[in-house]
Amino acid sequence: MKVGKEPSFRESVDLMFNRAVALMDLPPGLEEKIRVCNATYTVRFGVRLRGKIHTFTGYRAVHSEHMEPVKGGIRFAEAVDQDEVEALAALMTYKCALVETPFGGSKGGLCINPRDYDEHELEQITRRFAYELIKRDLINPSQNVPAPDMGTGEREMAWIADQYARMNTTDINARACVTGKPLNAGGIHGRVEATGRGVQYALREFFRDPRDVAKAGLTGKLDGKRVIVQGLGNVGYHAAKFLQDEDGAIITGIIERDGALFDPKGLDVSAVHEWLAKHGGVADFPDATHCAEGASVLEEDCDILIPAALEGVINMTNAARIKAPLIIEAANGPVTAGADDILREKGTVIIPDMYANAGGVTVSYFEWVKNLSHIRFGRMQRRQEEARHELIVSELERLDRYLGEAWSMSPNFKDKYLRGADELELVRSGLDDTMRIAYQSMREVWHGRDDVQDLRTAAYIVAIERVAASYRAKGL
Ligand code: NAD
Repeated sequence: MKVGKEPSFRESVDLMFNRAVALMDLPPGLEEKIRVCNATYTVRFGVRLRGKIHTFTGYRAVHSEHMEPVKGGIRFAEAVDQDEVEALAALMTYKCALVETPFGGSKGGLCINPRDYDEHELEQITRRFAYELIKRDLINPSQNVPAPDMGTGEREMAWIADQYARMNTTDINARACVTGKPLNAGGIHGRVEATGRGVQYALREFFRDPRDVAKAGLTGKLDGKRVIVQGLGNVGYHAAKFLQDEDGAIITGIIERDGALFDPKGLDVSAVHEWLAKHGGVADFPDATHCAEGASVLEEDCDILIPAALEGVINMTNAARIKAPLIIEAANGPVTAGADDILREKGTVIIPDMYANAGGVTVSYFEWVKNLSHIRFGRMQRRQEEARHELIVSELERLDRYLGEAWSMSPNFKDKYLRGADELELVRSGLDDTMRIAYQSMREVWHGRDDVQDLRTAAYIVAIERVAASYRAKGL
């Protein structure tokens, strides 16, 4: 990278990695082994559409195979290129290590604007791309397991899973070849909301420690905090909705492709989401100020900024003007390495992408385990748990009768206590636990070492240490 020039996405990831590695004591050469992307496969394939053959370009990068399968989403976007998928694959390696999901890192992408094609055409294109990857084991339950990312969702994952099953008719674990599938195709409750839910759990954990809150110059809890979110897609919508509905945060700004909505009193996230789905943009949404230059709203006054759309949106051109004291990177790579330097200098606290959006891969891990075990979570225990609770409740009822006026059970206690956890509750509980523990591992390094000034460096140190340990265990 030249001095003063904005680094590319991959250069940004490498610079951040190098900053952390400089504070570590790795054996000679291991640093390079961990940093480099193992392999990137580029495929060009044709699909006959509208009477003519269209050629598409796709990628699957495998960053690290210290654990297999490797894991990472498939993105459909026009800007996809090798640099981007390699950067995203590297982030997946560190993310999986940080949240302790037993995967290496990978990422895929297809250069396409999905809005240019109808559903049938998209299915043909997706199946063909999947075919190219499956035949090279770049989609495989034990080697490489994709998931949704920008421009893809449950529908595309179901097509990929079906394509794999058609090509591997005797593989009993076929469904585990991809995660983020719809429930009726082997998905898991809570996967769609998982990344946004993880952002909520991450913020809750941040606000549990007054020292962290003070570092951002904030006080109190999430309740009443003013939030601006960029991108009301899968991740941004769920994060904003949960923070508004369950934590009392006020969503003052929503930035989309066609501009931003702003209302200091708070926007109704569900209403904006419905409007966006119906009209394809936010421009004419009633009851809010619309700003055509959406990105400028990133610079508005707020307590928490959630970039949840795409990479590089906070860069050297606007970083100095960002007022939010706390940024949580729901998207991958929204802050460039250059911007990161400027923001750290200003004292802005950044909850880094590799942690902040790890909810998706965490619940993908649960889905993969569910597919391999061929049984939904809770199926064996739920009624047994209820029966044991019934025993306690009947004893309490006896006490209630015995003590008469002096004591009685709280209203709703019986119903709430008796109910055994269903799959969604178990998934949320596993995700909450994962997000808390991973944050605590970063916090320990952040507070415990004088040479670590920020959460991102702390996250890299924890993740790289784990990847290094895994290589050491293999004798490398
Ligand atoms: P998505 O396609 O569902 O949503 C992206 C949203 O951003 C859309 O609403 C789109 O209109 C909006 N957008 C696009 N360009 C924009 C721009 N220039 N300005 C403002 N808004 C813009 O994608 P997603 O799955 O929500 O992914 C968003 C980010 O989160 C990506 O960086 C992705 O890598 C990351 N991520 C996603 C998941 C997941 O489970 N889906 C998991 C981890 C990380």
